[in-house]
Amino acid sequence: MSFAPSDNIAKLLDGNKEWAAKLASSAPGVLEQNAKGQQPNILWFGCADSRAGESCLGLHPGQVFVHRNIANIVSHSDISSLSVLQLAVDSLKVSHIIVCGHYDCKGVEATLKKERMGGELDAWLRHLRDVRHTHAKTLDSIDDFKKRCQKLVELNVIAQVRNVRRNDRVMAAAKERGLKVYGLVYDVATGLVNEVPVPVDDGLDSDDSYLVH
Ligand SMILES: [Zn+2]
Repeated sequence: MSFAPSDNIAKLLDGNKEWAAKLASSAPGVLEQNAKGQQPNILWFGCADSRAGESCLGLHPGQVFVHRNIANIVSHSDISSLSVLQLAVDSLKVSHIIVCGHYDCKGVEATLKKERMGGELDAWLRHLRDVRHTHAKTLDSIDDFKKRCQKLVELNVIAQVRNVRRNDRVMAAAKERGLKVYGLVYDVATGLVNEVPVPVDDGLDSDDSYLVH
């Protein structure tokens, strides 16, 4: 189904009826299970981009707890993403956390072009400018702009995975029950995700100075 600017809400409601019927027949028991509560095993941090959601994993409703924002940033001062992290780790006890970036990310592109976007966006993208600054040498050595953007997408995923790993709740859950944090990148042109390897940084990821008691 597509949705044009001239379409109205009735079209969406009809589409929803079809979707719910399809889900009930293709995945029997899922809706009944969801009626009883949620037990997702995965927490997904992704970009708000309309092309790059967690649906690419092919999982059913109820299997992925989700937080999305501009450029999949998990900042230790953002109460929204931290609240999601708290609920997912402490209450839902997810076993995997994924930070997923995507190629052709406009937030990344604007950051590399040093474009002013105005308003709250410039403040939010400051997180990404920090990543750009940290890796300026690597990024400057890539001539092709598209490839430079892809590199910053991957470097941002690595930075955000490290932010998640250094959250005190995540550190405690990793120690106690083996909680894992991964980085992925989604290609909007192919629909495929690939892992962005983020080796554990022994110097920092297990540093007690990130823990609070
Ligand atoms: Zn994006």
